[in-house]
Amino acid sequence: MQGIFEGMKAHRKEDGSLLLFRPDQHAIRMKIGAERMCMPSPSIDQFVDAVKQTVVANKRWAPPPRKGSLYIRPMLIGSGSALGVHPAPEYMFFTYASPVGNYFKQGKAPLNLYVEEELIRAAPGGVGGVKSISNYGPVMKALVDAKRQGFSDVLYLDSVNKKYLEELSAANIFILKGNVISTPPASGTILPGITRKSVIDIAQDLGYQVEERAISVDELREADEVFCTGTAVGVASVGSVTYQGRRIEFKVGANSACQALGSTLVGIQTGLIEDDKDWVLKIA
Ligand SMILES: *Cc1c(COP(=O)(O)O)cnc(C)c1O
Repeated sequence: MQGIFEGMKAHRKEDGSLLLFRPDQHAIRMKIGAERMCMPSPSIDQFVDAVKQTVVANKRWAPPPRKGSLYIRPMLIGSGSALGVHPAPEYMFFTYASPVGNYFKQGKAPLNLYVEEELIRAAPGGVGGVKSISNYGPVMKALVDAKRQGFSDVLYLDSVNKKYLEELSAANIFILKGNVISTPPASGTILPGITRKSVIDIAQDLGYQVEERAISVDELREADEVFCTGTAVGVASVGSVTYQGRRIEFKVGANSACQALGSTLVGIQTGLIEDDKDWVLKIA
């Protein structure tokens, strides 16, 4: 009944080495998640060491520069023989890896999102802020239905007012209006993304004003740009959001803020831009 996971990437540099992006942050998030779920967790060092070993052992599966990355999936699950509702008697921590390309099947084309008004992803007091396996099964239906209608992903609303933006199935959401970039606060019902946090820092460095605040779905009508962030998607531009049968469109492509943020992030992750924030861990 207890299970949490992480997802991070290693990018191959021109010199053949592999660069892991902020593994310590993933370790910290797993530790915080484990506390919420009453699970013991690996220490930060144990976690980072396990991820490093997984990357070294699977180095030959890491795609060449610009052709994708090696995705690493650490998991912590309850195990042992027990039937009742109580913390498991034993736990397993393991990691595995796979080469990956683009997360969405349309590649890097702008996303078309569907605002879900019926099904909710997380509620206050729940575990929306934890990368818990229990958060994903319940929204498969919304996701499958949206994809069947041709959308790329679902944009969930808050469960109380059904009015404020939360996030996508596995990515955080941002809107841009003028020089101001806004994103919902990580106050328990959304997953506190490490890409989200990194993009906030990069945006401030690039001169944008960044606000973490409740964003009403109606604000989409005035937004210049919408984009989403996550380990799997990177920084992905959103071309349209469909809400109550109306399709709202946004600026995409060259000269967009999304493009600038995305290329800076990828530059740091792949070693093309100097890592002055100490985000990248080089693995031989
Ligand atoms: C993993 C995930 C994200 C993105 O988090 P990153 O740390 O940036 O990869 C956002 N939302 C949900 C629901 C997620 O599961």
